[in-house]
Amino acid sequence: MVFKPEYSWEFLSADEIQNKTVRALRNHVHHTLDVSPYYKELLSDFNPNAVQSIDDFMKLPLTEKSDVGSQAYNFNGVENRHIVETVVTSGSTGTPLAFSMTSNDLDRLAFNEALSFNGAGIKADDRVQILVSLDRLFIAGMAYYRGSILLGANTMRLGVLPEEMHRYYFELLKPTVLVGVPSFLNKLAIDLGKKGFDVKTLNVKKLVCIGESLRNQNMELNTLAESLECLWGAQVYSTYASTEMSVSYCDCEARCGGHAHPELIYTEIIDDNGNVVPDGTVGELVVTPLGVEGMPLIRFRTGDITFKMSEQCACGRNSIRVGPILGRKSQMIKLKGTTVYPSTITSVLDTIEDLTDYAIIIEGDDTLSDRVSIHVATHPSKVERISNELRAVARVNFPILVSNTTTIQSFRKNSRKKNRVIDWRRR
Ligand SMILES: [Zn+2]
Repeated sequence: MVFKPEYSWEFLSADEIQNKTVRALRNHVHHTLDVSPYYKELLSDFNPNAVQSIDDFMKLPLTEKSDVGSQAYNFNGVENRHIVETVVTSGSTGTPLAFSMTSNDLDRLAFNEALSFNGAGIKADDRVQILVSLDRLFIAGMAYYRGSILLGANTMRLGVLPEEMHRYYFELLKPTVLVGVPSFLNKLAIDLGKKGFDVKTLNVKKLVCIGESLRNQNMELNTLAESLECLWGAQVYSTYASTEMSVSYCDCEARCGGHAHPELIYTEIIDDNGNVVPDGTVGELVVTPLGVEGMPLIRFRTGDITFKMSEQCACGRNSIRVGPILGRKSQMIKLKGTTVYPSTITSVLDTIEDLTDYAIIIEGDDTLSDRVSIHVATHPSKVERISNELRAVARVNFPILVSNTTTIQSFRKNSRKKNRVIDWRRR
């Protein structure tokens, strides 16, 4: 497979993208109804030729995460012998879900990531170190690896190592781009700094950040992103993806929202009633991944809260962009008439030095107001600063409880992820 970014639709005019999208959606519905047992039954009376416009497509029902979770086998679009890789969702919002992928799905994933990296200005002569897990059934590390290889960059599969080993491989291999979780990259820079090593001297140019937002709703860098840029002397780029969508929305060099790749995904933002909302209005991201063979989906509700921007980007692309993920719909915290997303809290806590670990516990037994307590493994003298910074950003006084790493880890039970947000409202 050779990377041909010119195959992408992103520089076509908005009208051309729309026309191609309608055709792609119609073909997608045709294909999905042909192969997916779930959709064959759900839409048995629906004629895919009726999709002649975006409005026609939006008459189709939404697909809930719970629909897929309860009967994943029913979503398979191919016979078992065509499945070449199985990945599993992280399970951060429920039972982990197995996703089946064909060889073409893996090529599609590589094309997507190569497009994303290309948009972020990463070139074939870059040296890309991937600092996320490449095993344990995760899709992300594998996707970045394939995309970076397809782009032609010198790609290094480090995963997550002890900090001294990262330092050794930084100095030995001189990366120009790091791909990783922002709070991890932040902590790595701080910890190496304490040992007398300034990561700025590495001259890393770009940090491609996954799993946590870098901006607030006004598209300003949050405190975590500012800290990263200061510590590394590098530019931060946000990339957002999920197993189910098998596509990433990634910042381009203009860094004003994650571009969708319109030939690979159709993007909607909906309100609580399922109605599509206009640009800039916050709502739930709904995706229809295009060209997927293993498990094709129609109008899948991601549960992630963001907004979209459709006007042409400063980079010249006409593909729509999504803003930062402001939170998960299910994690929205209601506090005495206001709402706060946990990401607002984590974006503050992730920048506090000497905070070894923390957990945000959300409880609630009525529909009016939730209860939040923040458990921090740090010196008691840090509490006032944490409290002040949280109040400045979220305009709420949160109880801060000094704890230790053992107690905080015990909140997580057997979770594979080091969850910072522990939601006990739905136990
Ligand atoms: Zn752009």
